[in-house]
Amino acid sequence: MMNPFTSQRRQAALGWGLLAVTGAAALCGVALVLQNLRDHGALVLQPQRQRVPDPPAQAAWISPLRRQCHSGDPSLRQRLLTLQQTLPQRLERLRINPSNYAERLGRDAYGNPLDTTPSLVVLHETVYGLGSAINTFTTHHPQDADQVSYHLLIGEQGRVVETLDPSKRAFGAGYSAFRGRWVITNPAMAGSVNNFALHLSLETPLDGEDSEPGHSGYSTSQYDNLAVVLADWMRRYRIPFDAITTHRHVDLGLERADPRSFDWAALQRRLAALGALC
Ligand SMILES: [Zn+2]
Repeated sequence: MMNPFTSQRRQAALGWGLLAVTGAAALCGVALVLQNLRDHGALVLQPQRQRVPDPPAQAAWISPLRRQCHSGDPSLRQRLLTLQQTLPQRLERLRINPSNYAERLGRDAYGNPLDTTPSLVVLHETVYGLGSAINTFTTHHPQDADQVSYHLLIGEQGRVVETLDPSKRAFGAGYSAFRGRWVITNPAMAGSVNNFALHLSLETPLDGEDSEPGHSGYSTSQYDNLAVVLADWMRRYRIPFDAITTHRHVDLGLERADPRSFDWAALQRRLAALGALC
């Protein structure tokens, strides 16, 4: 992933001059690029070692979730299993504006191959209501800075709205990284987790439509549906529970605080009830 010996592109050997290719370089898969024409008239090929910039240091992610193989609450499990069964019928699929998302890239800006399978879940909150978020995502935004999307929204009353197919790249976090990993898709810009992340946002309660550090929290229905969606994603993409994190954590600009007032114990109980933490 962070292979420093990146190959921007491979160039075929030219038919004149001294072409020195070391066996080691070939074995390492190091790309060879044509360098300057030297004074003595020979063209020399040298391995290109264009290092991908690492993200700056960030606090370690210590997941509040923990392994748990027994759920002590059969009624909770039954309730969640019912929600799980009905999710395909309840799931609302929305078509958002193409300016607000992109394809997951198979190569970064330096030509390194990338795994396009999601491997991280980033939790957010909407701050304003579900309708406001949907309106933003369905609006055409020509400016990069205005383009935003998540894959899924969960409303206060339990509405589950898929705003973007998980195979696509949502613009859910800007300058961001997770455990030393980011993807740079444009060398003029800093890296982001978007290429390997799934972004899920909870509708903020009415008393949270501000920039205060907390609010009254999320509803039972939101935690229930969140657990059902996460359990599905974890199974489908083999995402471990400690790769469920927050926008607050991945944000390198230290500007994001969401999701505020999030109850990890509530999520722990539900994921355990679904058998997703074993
Ligand atoms: Zn966020």
